Amino acid sequence: MDSATTSPTAFRPPFCPNPNCKHHNDSSQPWPYKRAGFYPRLTTPHRIQRFTCLSCRRSFSSQTFHTSYWLKRPDLLSQLFMKTVGGMANRQLARDLKVAPSTIDRQLARLGRHCLLLHTRLTTHARPTGPLVLDGFAAFEFSQFYPFDHHLLVERDSSFFWHFTDSPLRRRGRMTAAQKRRRQQLEQRLGRPDPKAVEHDVHKLLQTVLSQEAAATVRSDDHRAYPRALRRLGCQVEHLVTPSVARRDADNPLFEINLLDLLIRHSQANHRRETIAWSKRRQGSAERLAILLVWRNYVKRRWEKRCRQTPAMVKGLLARPWQVADVLKQRLFRSRIALCERWDRYYRRAVLTVALPHNRAHQLKYAF
Ligand SMILES: [Zn+2]
Repeated sequence: MDSATTSPTAFRPPFCPNPNCKHHNDSSQPWPYKRAGFYPRLTTPHRIQRFTCLSCRRSFSSQTFHTSYWLKRPDLLSQLFMKTVGGMANRQLARDLKVAPSTIDRQLARLGRHCLLLHTRLTTHARPTGPLVLDGFAAFEFSQFYPFDHHLLVERDSSFFWHFTDSPLRRRGRMTAAQKRRRQQLEQRLGRPDPKAVEHDVHKLLQTVLSQEAAATVRSDDHRAYPRALRRLGCQVEHLVTPSVARRDADNPLFEINLLDLLIRHSQANHRRETIAWSKRRQGSAERLAILLVWRNYVKRRWEKRCRQTPAMVKGLLARPWQVADVLKQRLFRSRIALCERWDRYYRRAVLTVALPHNRAHQLKYAF
């Protein structure tokens, strides 16, 4: 599949890239296509094989199936992947890779979309095993007047990071009189976040992961919205509560989620305490979190010491730790992978930040 390492003539397209062609999703019938010459390009390999689908007449190339499709700098994605989970902020990335900051913003979003699809595809036939641990990860977008929670779900026995959603929250906690006035002004102008958002978004999170389960055990802290979120699930849930004031060491039943919290704060520049690199949109935070999820599950070992297995290996999903090249081995097509409703919104960049007058959505036709 990797057109950078295989010779241009050896590549065989696996399906028609046209989403409206009957050979896009259906691989049961033989697919008629023909080779249609080459085109030259500036980076290696310099000759790219072209093809034509004989069913829909769509023309495409070996690059159509590659993650570097339509990229002027095909080397950027793999570097971005490790640097974003290595704590670098967007401007630092731009200086390090010698590209415009807007290039980093766009490519991070693209990489995030790829990671949403990759995790969904890799877990198509996977089922949660053992207790699941649930928690909210506190963050803010645009300014501290717009806090939000990422809801995270982790498997206790494998550290496998299953899924995430998010909810906008109302600013709480200690505020000066001026800050309280400012909050009131902003809420009058932009409205208040839905007070039931946590309940709805945690419900969606659990519904996605537990859709095929008859029974499950969920551990969490004593957040008041969680029992309500668990109520209307089609699955029988045993809910075990650990008070949030309990000591957070390795014996705490919520250890796995506390560890993931630490890993996110340590590895992602936008979630550091007192940072100046906070996310301007929670949409962007979700894209970065999708990259971290793929790194955590498929690339990083479960523990740093005395462990050679990734969470995906503990679960039996993969036989070896993945390298970044494995993550980026092939382009994934949105039209061939069914995303859950919330992740579909992340994919389309449809999660709105109310403080911004314009929220750019994802409408590219030829990039994924
Ligand atoms: Zn076709």
